[in-house]
Amino acid sequence: MIRLADSDTRSSLPAPGACDLSSLNTFALESLAPACVSLHDEADLPRLATLAKRYDALLVLGGGSNVVLPPKVRGLVARVALRGVRLAGEDARMRIVEAAAGESWHGLVAHCVEQGWGGLENLALIPGTVGAAPVQNIGAYGVELCERFAGLRAYDLLREEWVDMDASQCGFGYRDSVFKREPGRWVIASVRVTLPKPWRPVLEYPDLQRHPRLVGAPSPRDVFEAVCEIRRAKLPDPAVLGNAGSFFKNPVVPAAQYEALRARFPGLVGYPQANGGYKLAAGWLIDQCGWKGRRLGPVGVHERQALVLVNHGGARAADVLALAEAIRRDVENRYGVVLEPEPVVVPGASERT
Ligand SMILES: Cc1cc2nc3c(=O)[nH]c(=O)nc-3n(C[C@H](O)[C@H](O)[C@H](O)COP(=O)(O)OP(=O)(O)OC[C@H]3O[C@@H](n4cnc5c(N)ncnc54)[C@H](O)[C@@H]3O)c2cc1C
Repeated sequence: MIRLADSDTRSSLPAPGACDLSSLNTFALESLAPACVSLHDEADLPRLATLAKRYDALLVLGGGSNVVLPPKVRGLVARVALRGVRLAGEDARMRIVEAAAGESWHGLVAHCVEQGWGGLENLALIPGTVGAAPVQNIGAYGVELCERFAGLRAYDLLREEWVDMDASQCGFGYRDSVFKREPGRWVIASVRVTLPKPWRPVLEYPDLQRHPRLVGAPSPRDVFEAVCEIRRAKLPDPAVLGNAGSFFKNPVVPAAQYEALRARFPGLVGYPQANGGYKLAAGWLIDQCGWKGRRLGPVGVHERQALVLVNHGGARAADVLALAEAIRRDVENRYGVVLEPEPVVVPGASERT
C-alpha cells in the first residue's frame, strides 16, 4: 500500500470533538456525537483502545449506511478513515487484493473491474466502507463477501492486540458475523479478498439472467454495469431519500412451516436453504400486509421496495423503530414469522432526545 507519511510520531489521538452525524448516516437521521475521533493510521487503533477506556461505550462508524443512530450517541464515536488498496498476491488460481477499512466498498469493486479482475462485480454499488463489509457479510445478486473473503486484520480492543482473522474466525452467516454479534470489540483495519482465476460470471439471480447486456460471454465489466443499472432502477438513492437499504433480513423458517404457509398463501415466495429450511422474501410478506408506500409520521415504506424504510425528512431513530415495530407486528400476526432488522440499531435509538 502506498503511504505518504510513514513515520507517525503522535503517541495519542487528538482530543475528541463533538460531531453532527446527521449527514454521516444514509438514513439522514438527526444525530449528534459529543465525542468523535477519526482514525487515519493503523497506529491510531491501539491509541483508540486507550482513549475508549474513558468512555462508557464505543461506536465504530464507517459510511453510516447500515446503522440506526440515536439523537445523541452515547460514548465515543471512532470514524474509520484508513486508506489504501494493493494487489497483495497472485498465482495461477487467484489474485489477493487488500484494501484498507476506510476505502469505499464500491470504489474497491470498480477498481478491480477497471484492472480486468473479476470476482466482486455482483457486489457493486453497495454503499459504505471496506471495513464494514465483513460486519454483516454483505451480499447481493447471488454473491456474499464470505465467498470472496481471504482474511482481515483487526485490532482487538478487549485483548489489546492485533489479530489476523480467517473466515472461520469471523463466523460469517447470512448478514451476520462475530463483529455484528460483539459490537465494539474489534476495529477492522484492512480486508483481503480472493479474486478467482479463471473468472466465471455468477448469473443465477433472475434479474441478471434476463439482462440484455449479459447474453453470450459477458465480462466482469458487463456484470458490473448490469448490477449498477438494476440497483439504480430498483433502490432509492440515499442522497435523495434517506434509507439504509433493506431494513429487515429475509427470515429463514423450517420446511414444515414453509409448507404450511404455502398451503394458506399460495403466492408465498421462498427459497430452499442448505440447512433444509426456506428463506422467505421479507419484502413480499410486508407488501402483502399492505405496507408498501405507506407513511407513519416522517418515515415510510418505499413505494417500489417494501423492504426499504425511508426518511421523508426530519426523522429520528424512534420514528424508524416505531414503523419497523408496526410492520413486524403485522407480519407476525398474519404469518407467524418474526422479522429481524438488518441494520445495527445503536443504543439510545428509541429515545426522542
Ligand atoms: C441504498 C443501500 C443499499 C444497500 N444494499 C446492500 C446490499 O445489497 N447488501 C448488503 O449486504 N448491504 C447493503 N446495504 C447496507 C450497507 O451498505 C452495508 O451493510 C455496508 O457494508 C455498511 O457499510 P458502512 O461503512 O456504511 O457501515 P456503517 O453503517 O458505518 O456500520 C455498520 C456496522 O459496522 C460496524 N463497522 C463499520 N466499520 C467498521 C470497522 N472498520 N471495524 C469494525 N466495525 C465496523 C459499525 O460499528 C456498525 O456496527 C445497503 C445500504 C443502502 C443505504
